[in-house]
Amino acid sequence: MGYPIQLVGLEGKRVLLAGGGPVAAEKVVPLIYAGANVHLVTPDVSPEMEEWLPKVWRFDRREVTDDDVPGAKVVVGATDDGAVNARLVEVARGLGILAQAADDKPNCDFYSPAVVRRGSVIMTISTDGGSPMLAGQLRRALEAAVPRSVTDVAELLVRLRERGMKGLANRGRMLRALFDPTITRLVDMGDTEAAADRLEELFREEEEPFEPGTVAIVGAGPGSRQLLTLRALDRIQRADVILHDALVEDEVLRLALPGTEIVDVGRRSRAMEPRHEPADGKRIPLMVEYARAGKRVVRLHGGDPFVFGRGGEEVDALRDAGIAWEVVPGVSSALASGSAAGIPLTQRGVAKGFSVRTGHDTGGPTRGELLPQEETVVVLMGLGVAEEVLAQLQAEGRGPDTPAVAVSGASRPDEQIVVGTIATLADRIREAELPAPATLIVGEVARGLLEDTDRKDAAAKPGHEATAGAV
Ligand code: SAH
Repeated sequence: MGYPIQLVGLEGKRVLLAGGGPVAAEKVVPLIYAGANVHLVTPDVSPEMEEWLPKVWRFDRREVTDDDVPGAKVVVGATDDGAVNARLVEVARGLGILAQAADDKPNCDFYSPAVVRRGSVIMTISTDGGSPMLAGQLRRALEAAVPRSVTDVAELLVRLRERGMKGLANRGRMLRALFDPTITRLVDMGDTEAAADRLEELFREEEEPFEPGTVAIVGAGPGSRQLLTLRALDRIQRADVILHDALVEDEVLRLALPGTEIVDVGRRSRAMEPRHEPADGKRIPLMVEYARAGKRVVRLHGGDPFVFGRGGEEVDALRDAGIAWEVVPGVSSALASGSAAGIPLTQRGVAKGFSVRTGHDTGGPTRGELLPQEETVVVLMGLGVAEEVLAQLQAEGRGPDTPAVAVSGASRPDEQIVVGTIATLADRIREAELPAPATLIVGEVARGLLEDTDRKDAAAKPGHEATAGAV
């Protein structure tokens, strides 16, 4: 059996939909997108249906009757009573109206296909009512294969320009608009109005600063580009030059725009090369040289730059050289590996914390406990008990002058960093009335920040450089 006529124009036409359960909710979505005047009749409304109620043309909270049928263009019976659905179809057929009873093949004049939308292009998949599951799988395959509607987004941009929108010449904004997942998704759904609104919002948003002559030390995550942060993507696409590790995957590097200079500064760029790391001593001078030449430099690390990534040495060097820098965190393999394997790193009653060690160190493989002065301790959920936590860390053998820092609201607009030592941090937290959520970081790695802070005017925002280095 074939169904050569598939797409029925329903815009502004009344469609009777009986039923309020999940099956009816599945039916209501394409009808609303098709612009139909959905007339919903049902005594009960499921949560799935609830969210669509505002978009329904008319809603009668009662049992459906034969009298609801006349005048409808299409009738869909999706109540949980098969006899009621079949009866609706019978009445509709008597009046020459197209009708469908859910999950009841003989009582279907048409099937609801799986739909893939790409702007004005609509692809439908029908399996003759036989296998909605297969149709769903094919839909996903098509969705992956057919590119998103960049052309439609481009058309939207033109419309905005006609309406006098400024800033369209900005390359970064243009790219963000073309690839903003929300916009392309809205365009694909056919909701151009919402897409245009979102586009305008994007253009009003201030771009984050990334000035020529600065270095962004960026974490690229464990491999898949899907695990990049939006900020990492932004810096990658605005960079003049990218200096990357061997661990950074090609699929991430391919996100850079044509014309970006890409330099492999990986220690193990070729598996065959001896392990004496020829590029090692040149990496930092190269980065400084590019920044001094006025380039926007991205130093791209696998995972997070500050977890066994030498980002710390780079920050020290940039500080010394008086070059502005920032650090964009990445998903460290220390976290991603647990996620990949489904292994929680902490779990109530099983593991109270975790440490991250290196098997490849100048001092040889790590064994046993670390010396207190060699170990950075990061404490979550410790703000309210900072005094006890710090006392305990001291009792374990750390000096009272060990640097200790509290970071509140990291990366949020109200981010605040309080710097002290094991002896002073608790007081400083109290004085600053530091709000939760906050994380404590204790260890020699914070020595540079501590010295900077001691040097600086108390009025300057302490610790700001840790995330948005301005020199
Ligand atoms: N800064 C990086 C770590 C660099 S050290 C980070 O935060 O992830 C390099 C080591 O990280 C590798 O030898 C390996 O042990 C680990 N690693 C990096 N990527 C990984 C991945 N995708 N899966 C598992 N381990 C990975």
